[in-house]
Amino acid sequence: MRIDIITCLPKLLESPFGDSILKRAQNKGLVEIKVHDLRDFAKNRQKQVDDYAYGGGAGMVLMIEPIADCIEHLKSGRTYDEVIYMSPDGELLNQSLANELSLRKNIIILCGHYKGVDERVRQHYITREISIGDYVLSGGELAAAVLSDAVIRLIPGVLSDETSALTDSFQDGLVAPPVYTRPAEFRGMKVPDVLLSGHEKKIEAWRFEQAVKRTKQRRPGAIGE
Ligand code: SAH
Repeated sequence: MRIDIITCLPKLLESPFGDSILKRAQNKGLVEIKVHDLRDFAKNRQKQVDDYAYGGGAGMVLMIEPIADCIEHLKSGRTYDEVIYMSPDGELLNQSLANELSLRKNIIILCGHYKGVDERVRQHYITREISIGDYVLSGGELAAAVLSDAVIRLIPGVLSDETSALTDSFQDGLVAPPVYTRPAEFRGMKVPDVLLSGHEKKIEAWRFEQAVKRTKQRRPGAIGE
């Protein structure tokens, strides 16, 4: 999979992709992440990528020209399955959307800033708009990193234990059961006996029961959907 991220603040994306699972995924060649600085596509010497909003009002707007040039430049090299714009009013990111996107080959993610991007970008270049929640961030970079992380960890081979992503919350419509590690007792707080029993079937049954219980408590309505 290849993810091209377009941003006017490329530095914000260095650390999320430079460590741990996302870094290893790139090193293993399972995903290629390219961050593109919108300013490289700016039209004037000041490297301007934003301008005042027509009609007035507070806040700058990212201009269509550099974005269009960047997207067209990328499209001249390969075919993209999706051109995504991170936006607070987009469809809400959830596990099933992450699953769906993990099957794509090439995607572009556009990060907005300030007041957002010129509406004509959204109308003519964007195939999908995604929000990471009903709140407003300063820019699309953190949202793009969240989306990329949720998607990349689902690519087979990215997680060292391949079944691990399958047992995470939401993969089967349930949230995850509680987990414990050593020591078996800490200041009188004990790990449930069943987990120490070595009885695989019983452990599996306990985990399922706990997952159902938690889902009912925390995400009522999710079961059976
Ligand atoms: N004026 C806009 C908000 C702009 S916030 C509005 O009220 O809708 C600046 C940029 O941050 C957006 O263009 C978008 O790319 C990103 N952003 C902010 N909140 C986000 C969210 N919840 N999900 C995804 N992207 C978000």
